[in-house]
This record gives sequence, C-alpha cells and structure tokens, in this order.
Amino acid sequence: MKPLLIANWKMNPLSLEGAIKISNNLPRDKAEIIICPPFIFIEKLKKILDIGIGAQNCFWEEAGAFTGEISTLMLKLMGVTHVIVGHSERREIFKENNLIINKKIKSILKEGLTPILCIGETKIEKESGETWDVLKKQLKEGLTGVNRDIIIAYEPIWAIGSGIACSSDVAEEVMVFIKKNTFFDNKILYGGSVNSNNVTDYPSFSGFLIGGASLNPVEFNKIIEIITQ
Ligand code: PEP
Repeated sequence: MKPLLIANWKMNPLSLEGAIKISNNLPRDKAEIIICPPFIFIEKLKKILDIGIGAQNCFWEEAGAFTGEISTLMLKLMGVTHVIVGHSERREIFKENNLIINKKIKSILKEGLTPILCIGETKIEKESGETWDVLKKQLKEGLTGVNRDIIIAYEPIWAIGSGIACSSDVAEEVMVFIKKNTFFDNKILYGGSVNSNNVTDYPSFSGFLIGGASLNPVEFNKIIEIITQ
C-alpha cells in the first residue's frame, strides 16, 4: 500500500500563488498525498491542481448561525476528502476538548469523509509519566460511539515544530498501545518534526502528518522519495 502523507500547512502560505508553488510538483503517483491548506485556498487548489485535499478543521452543524465556522458539509461540497481533528493547536489555543472533537469526528463520518484524529501528550505529561492515561482518554472520549475505522495520528505535542522527533522505540510502543485501545483497523500515522533525516525511523506506521517540512517542496519531495524507495 502507498504511504499516506498528510500535509498540514496550518495558517500558511499568505497567497494562492504561494500555495500553488508549494504543491504543483509533488510526485502523486508514489504516495497518497493529502494537502490541508487554509480554507480559503481549498476550492482553487482543487480546481487548478486536482490534488487530494483535506481540511484542518470543521464544524459539526450543516449550516446556520455559527459565525466564523465552516461546516463539514460545505467542505464535502468543495471536494475535501479528509479532515484533521484534535490537533494540539486547536486543543490548546482554541480550547477544543474531547467532546467537541467527538462531535466533529461524527459529522465527518456522517458526510462520508475521513477524520484524522490527532492525539498526543505534552512535555509535562510525558515527564510526569501520564502519557498512557492521556492517550487513553483522548482515544476513549474522542471515539465514543464511532463505529468505523478512521486515521489516527500520534503527534506528541513536545515534538511538534520543535525539531525533536519522537524516538523510534517510543513511537512503536505508542502504535501498539493505540491498536490495543481502539477497535477497527485504523491507519496510524506519526507526526512531529518529521524530516528527511528521521522519516525512516517509523517503519510500521502507515504514513505521516507533516507540518513544517510540507511547506518546503524540496524537503517534502525528498521525504516522499525516501519512503517510497
Ligand atoms: C503538525 O503540526 O501537525 C506537525 C506535525 O508539525 P511539524 O511537522 O512541523 O512538527
């Protein structure tokens, strides 16, 4: 099976031209690549490049008085196939809890799209030995009533954007833990400071959720090259 690469661009780049530049030369035949750009670029990128497009967020109601939100149905109508939920930046900055995340996952599945549930512990939780409890709670509450396989991304928060990726051994342990604590045959990705030097450290993962390195086309192509050799 082709490795799955989810590119989380976060709030980048500033222009559509920049977005096209980053994504127009990816070797799409080698890996399954899903670009998750800011909402405002989704429709145009889909039309211009015909690439796999995901969203970085969604709202669970279809339409109505929800100022500033974009519904899962709207995303589906734009051609989005995947939606990231539970990213640590949304949990921390926007105070999204497991209940909210669960509602989002259910709306994504209802529309026939694929949720990418991010789970991971903070540095403090890791150092105080709480990793397993945190991950268990995120999985249990985030997936309550979810009866289909989804994509789960293990993203230790201390590894995101820090340049310090999770060690191969620990990531492997977490992978076993996720499998034990979930039903269904979920795809499991690793995310957190992935680059062309460390991407081979996670051989049993189905692929990667990549932030910073996915904004650099040379580095992103190199990663794809390495994992598909
Ligand atoms: C992310 O934000 O999901 C992420 C993995 O970022 P980075 O690759 O930059 O650590």
